[in-house]
Amino acid sequence: MILVFPNTRRLFLITIFAISASAQTVASLAGEAPVKEAFSIIQRNEPEMLREQQRICEIAAPPFEESVRAAELKRLFEKLGLADVRIDKVGNVIGVRPGAQPRPNLVFAAHLDTVFPPGTDVKVTRTDDLMKGPGIGDDCRGLVVMLGVIRALNEAKITTKGTITFVADVGEEGLGDLRGMKELFGETLKGRIDAFISVDGLGSSITNVGVGSYRYKVTFKGPGGHSYGAFGNANPIQAMGRAIAKIDQFEVPDKPKTTFNVGRVSGGTSVNAIPFEAWMEVDMRSSDIGELGKLNEKFKASMNEAAAEENKRWNNRGPVSVSAELVGLRPAGQTPESSPIVKTALAVNQTLGLSSHLGEGSTDSNVPMNQGIPAITIGGGGTGSGAHSLNESFDAHDSWKGTQRALLLAIALAR
Ligand SMILES: [Zn+2]
Repeated sequence: MILVFPNTRRLFLITIFAISASAQTVASLAGEAPVKEAFSIIQRNEPEMLREQQRICEIAAPPFEESVRAAELKRLFEKLGLADVRIDKVGNVIGVRPGAQPRPNLVFAAHLDTVFPPGTDVKVTRTDDLMKGPGIGDDCRGLVVMLGVIRALNEAKITTKGTITFVADVGEEGLGDLRGMKELFGETLKGRIDAFISVDGLGSSITNVGVGSYRYKVTFKGPGGHSYGAFGNANPIQAMGRAIAKIDQFEVPDKPKTTFNVGRVSGGTSVNAIPFEAWMEVDMRSSDIGELGKLNEKFKASMNEAAAEENKRWNNRGPVSVSAELVGLRPAGQTPESSPIVKTALAVNQTLGLSSHLGEGSTDSNVPMNQGIPAITIGGGGTGSGAHSLNESFDAHDSWKGTQRALLLAIALAR
């Protein structure tokens, strides 16, 4: 029996560009004339940006089919005067707002894709501040906050010392498996990103812990046979039963929260046949890269042990084999509370009188966090409910505050 698993250990280089601003600096920055000007531009532009949010959201962007919405974002990036606007190999839209120097390079991102399959009615309805439609918050809001930041920087004629690169990315949701970010950090802008901000979610949230996950489809196979006539052959379903019992006994910490789940099982052909195949899907998560790695190792060993025990039980007659296919991998990581980017984000919230708490999640930031690149995910303002459902809503009351926050953070980090 052979188990094939990817190598999960990696080495990281930590970037040494100090990208930060103290609470005091942020407060005085917010008082500077061009920044105040940008703030009022944002507030003035918000009604138009909300119409833009509705319009973008009505361009369907199912998983792996983001290209039409991507083309629109490319057009908007060009219209806003970004430099070097392009679409990379996997479909990320990239545009650059050059600073006085190329580094530090701050990347600002929001995701194009939704969880909704092709054919979903993506019409957005609106009554005053309340907008309803699939994806209206997640992540059409993020896309529009990004556009609002570019516009305000332009209209207030703000220049930055460092460069800001804007990215409308693909593959954030579900089986997209963060492929946009994997490409961006692994190929497109490899080694050229010093800090990363994803605008995803609503309100004034700050996510600094990236929950990682491994998802496997595990298959047990054997020769099968008649339940009476071939009795004595090893049994793939019974081997899988042993494997599930082992998973069930895994000890995991409450903190950092680490979880496992056998979510789906299938196999066999008849009550009176020894099955020739059985499979299950397993999901494992942790906010801690070390714990997730340990769990993954324990899982791999257990699958092999379960097959070996089953084969031993039947003296290796009609033995079973096991293989595990990795169907999802979201790297875990975190940006420490003490890191400059988190401190700056907290200072920005404080300056703007927004509530602050640090949270964990599984977002585009997982990829840079895993590589040791300073990264956080921030909400795009407003409030809402029903993300990932057809009843998703976005309440735009005071939503301009979200764009103001993103702008101040961008300037504080890139100045
Ligand atoms: Zn999202």
